Amino acid sequence: MTKKKKYFKKFLIGIDLGGTNVYMVLVDTKGKIYAEKHFPTLAEKGPDFVIDNIILELKNLVNTNGYSIKDIWRIGIGSPGPLDSKKGIVYGAVNLPGWKYVKLKEKVQKATEIKTAVDNDANCAIYGEKWLGAGKKYNNIIGLTLGTGIGGGIIINGKLIRGINYNAGEIGHMSLNPDGILCKCKGKGCFEQYASASAIANIAKEKIRQGKKSIITEIVKGDLNKITSKVVYEGLLANDELAKEIWNEFIKYLATGIRNILHIFNPEVVIIAGGVINAGEKLFVPLREAVKKQTFEIIYNAAKIVPASLSERAGAIGAAGLVLFEGDFYGV
Ligand SMILES: [Zn+2]
Repeated sequence: MTKKKKYFKKFLIGIDLGGTNVYMVLVDTKGKIYAEKHFPTLAEKGPDFVIDNIILELKNLVNTNGYSIKDIWRIGIGSPGPLDSKKGIVYGAVNLPGWKYVKLKEKVQKATEIKTAVDNDANCAIYGEKWLGAGKKYNNIIGLTLGTGIGGGIIINGKLIRGINYNAGEIGHMSLNPDGILCKCKGKGCFEQYASASAIANIAKEKIRQGKKSIITEIVKGDLNKITSKVVYEGLLANDELAKEIWNEFIKYLATGIRNILHIFNPEVVIIAGGVINAGEKLFVPLREAVKKQTFEIIYNAAKIVPASLSERAGAIGAAGLVLFEGDFYGV
């Protein structure tokens, strides 16, 4: 009987709080999306403003689509960390100025009177892919989001791996070279210093500043600050030598990181997210080849390496999925 009561309300809200934008979805417990929106975070205005604005936008999303806040059963929020996902407290986030020990869960619950859970944004993104995206058919999944850094998420036997104080999955800070590039985590040679979208851009900037000739300089009209991973990819398509060199290096490091992960977790699938996946075969074909060369055959053969399929909605969908399926963990 209690179970029936628990599922009385049909809808969930999933929120992905990013440094630049907030994504929000209204979904049911089957994963059908009824409404969605995104809006600028305006992170520079500080945590109180950001949270109040999210609550306002949440109520608007529900009301303008003909529902009532009373129809919402639970709210899931993906946030940059580090954070305590059990208590829903964000300790601090590089892209969210002023966020220090913010009781995000408590504030949202109080303002909405709806049970709320908060988890790491990378965990939410991979959980979204598991629920409704590229990981649908799998229970042993590693997720990598190639962006400013590399976000990681680990799902084993259908469950997120969280670690003793919920900070597991920092795959981007796995070192590939103890004498390598210094990272903001204090480590050297971190995976994300070589295989994130920012790394591609940074390496291109550095090489061009050192005097390397490239079409990349023309694409950005001499303004090297405008170099992004997409610009390097454009250079690659134009058969530019430097772009090719940078792209091959990127794939070499990405493959090395992935083969490490494969040997540790023996997953069924590695799902790669981020704008870089738009490169399609130019990324995945050489990547799979490079991984295969350095991985135990039995492990490689069990693991697919595929692009994510939910794009920027993955985090919001996953936040809703987590609060739905792992509610016990969050005490909601
Ligand atoms: Zn690091």
